[in-house]
Amino acid sequence: MRRRRIYEGKAKVLFEGPQPGTLVQYFKDDATAFNNKKRGTITGKGVLNNRISEHLMLRLAEIGIPTHFVRRLNMREQLVREVEIIQIEVVIRNIAAGSIAKRLGLEEGIQLPRPIVEYYLKNDDLGDPMVTEEHITAFNWANTQDLDDMLQLALRINDFLLGLFLGVGLKLVDFKLEFGRLWEDDEMRIVLADEISPDTCRLWDVKTNERMDKDRFRQDLGGVEEAYQEVARRLGVLPENGLAEVTRPKLVQ
Ligand code: UDP
Repeated sequence: MRRRRIYEGKAKVLFEGPQPGTLVQYFKDDATAFNNKKRGTITGKGVLNNRISEHLMLRLAEIGIPTHFVRRLNMREQLVREVEIIQIEVVIRNIAAGSIAKRLGLEEGIQLPRPIVEYYLKNDDLGDPMVTEEHITAFNWANTQDLDDMLQLALRINDFLLGLFLGVGLKLVDFKLEFGRLWEDDEMRIVLADEISPDTCRLWDVKTNERMDKDRFRQDLGGVEEAYQEVARRLGVLPENGLAEVTRPKLVQ
């Protein structure tokens, strides 16, 4: 039986789930950067991001962060609650890198005075422009309560993940979160959605500052697959049979 495809993004596909109010989130190996101008595949990325995001969502749920994650189904799929995605990307930064370094003329790698939260409108045609709380509330992309919830959750998530990654020798430089609205008995809650993975985080090795994330793909640094595997290995979530499922030769019929 073919499942109904609800949405296809750059790195994931969403299918109708087995029960009402659920979706199946399928992780692809496809990678894009610079607003789709650079495209490629990272072999095994989908399998690794599925595991890494599962692990991080479960650890966050344990400290009381509401998330859309239900359970992992198989190598590339997880069951999630269906939410209405808020069309704002929330970026949290601890160390200057990427666009903030460029825009403000900051040296890459300097510690920011405190975690800085930024908002970007999810709009590919416009190249995800940065927006302020004023824009967000004036255009009703989210209200002040939603924004406050997202900000408080983002800061708690940052505090927790900083420690979690430091424990495995990685600096959490910056990352992107997406939130969704979940209705239960006429009550709306803001929950963490999408994924948290080396696609959406900058992770640098504590000792060497080696990039262990999608910047290896963006900047053609090589060793992309190895970096994703190393993050999974350090978190203790590398699949037991390695990546045999994705790398073994296909049976010719
Ligand atoms: N990020 C993301 N999706 C986006 C834009 C950014 O996951 O569409 C992540 C990115 O991986 C990094 C952080 O958000 O960890 C901050 O990205 P930045 O604004 O520096 O933009 P970039 O340099 O990645 O274009």
